[in-house]
Amino acid sequence: MVKVCPNCKTTNDDSSSFCQNCGTELPEKTSKEGFMSKWNKQSTGAKAVIIIAGLCCIGLIAVVGFGAMVSPDKTTTSTSPTTNTTSTPTANTASSSSSSSSSSSSPSSSATGIQIVVDYAGEWQGSYGDETGQQSVQGSGPKTISVSGSPSIVSAVMQKMDGGSGTLTVKILKDGSVKQSKSTSADYGVVTATYSSF
Ligand SMILES: [Zn+2]
Repeated sequence: MVKVCPNCKTTNDDSSSFCQNCGTELPEKTSKEGFMSKWNKQSTGAKAVIIIAGLCCIGLIAVVGFGAMVSPDKTTTSTSPTTNTTSTPTANTASSSSSSSSSSSSPSSSATGIQIVVDYAGEWQGSYGDETGQQSVQGSGPKTISVSGSPSIVSAVMQKMDGGSGTLTVKILKDGSVKQSKSTSADYGVVTATYSSF
């Protein structure tokens, strides 16, 4: 039986404790014995120490790992979700269908300023106004309303007052040209027309 130096691979006699070549301490025995035979040769006290040390090591790992899980991760940037709640649908578009500047026979009057033209064969009513206030209006058949002054914003809301299937059209004219034209053919439909000179 020989011992091989782990440092210089020199073959030494089995009885030697140090390498004859380099002086490295040689292992006491060649590891023919497995772990269990070494384990069995340990004293009970040594086993207990080893077991306790192992448990402590496992416990330490568990504590560290648990702490890492519990402690809030401060490195993650809190991505605040931007909830887009500003999507408010424009109201009242279901009942009024808008048509842009129908090429019907617009009154080519020489009127200046702003006029509101209500074109409906039946009865209608509503209101119109500018930044100074609103006025109620109603009528039967087509009507042209002249808005006094030169308001920068004019709006008109007209509704069909009979259940007819005719088309109610509201136009806003400035200096004789149609700036806004909206119409509806729904029963008791509402038309909202707004013109702004801005
Ligand atoms: Zn050696």
